[in-house]
Amino acid sequence: LINLANHDPLTQLLNRRGFFRLCKKITKTAPLNSRVSLIMLDIDLFKQVNDQYGHETGDEAIKWIAQHINELFFELGVTARIGGEEFAIFLPNTDIDDAFFLASKIRQAVGDSTLDIDGKQVNYTLSLGVETSSKEDQSIDALFKRADFKLYGAKDKGRNRVEK
Ligand code: GH3
Ligand code: MG
Ligand code: MG
Repeated sequence: LINLANHDPLTQLLNRRGFFRLCKKITKTAPLNSRVSLIMLDIDLFKQVNDQYGHETGDEAIKWIAQHINELFFELGVTARIGGEEFAIFLPNTDIDDAFFLASKIRQAVGDSTLDIDGKQVNYTLSLGVETSSKEDQSIDALFKRADFKLYGAKDKGRNRVEK
């Protein structure tokens, strides 16, 4: 039951609740001066995928992108599906430059791949926002809000990009 309450059944990643629980646990026990970073990730123009191919295919695409995220980050941090086609990656002991590098890597990996949908090769792009904790404010909620704001900046600036 604990597992069900904290995980997303579609992708097997943590859900929003599980994500915040674990991140808060980690930041509580981490040394005060350690830097933690957060990547927020949203699939670009995903509504079009649903409109064009149907909701079930959209679900397959979400699963596929979750696999990419898991492959790159499972040893590095905490990965979660926090909303429909939105993901968060929490990176302990990671500064802003390393977090930006990793965010760029997942953006490129997904952008360079295609998913086979009914024999068609479909391409997806991602927008990402990256933030790092400051000494003054180590709350995960504040970090989450700032990273989300950066994500909106990436959308504003044309999508398929990382903003830090
Ligand atoms: P943007 O580039 O601005 O992010 O455009 P977008 O179309 O991706 O817009 P937004 O992120 O606001 O909308 C997300 C859409 O993703 C809405 C809905 O159609 C679809 N979606 C959300 N959750 C799910 C889901 O669980 N399954 C499927 N198939 N689609 C979902
Ligand atoms: Mg989107
Ligand atoms: Mg969205």
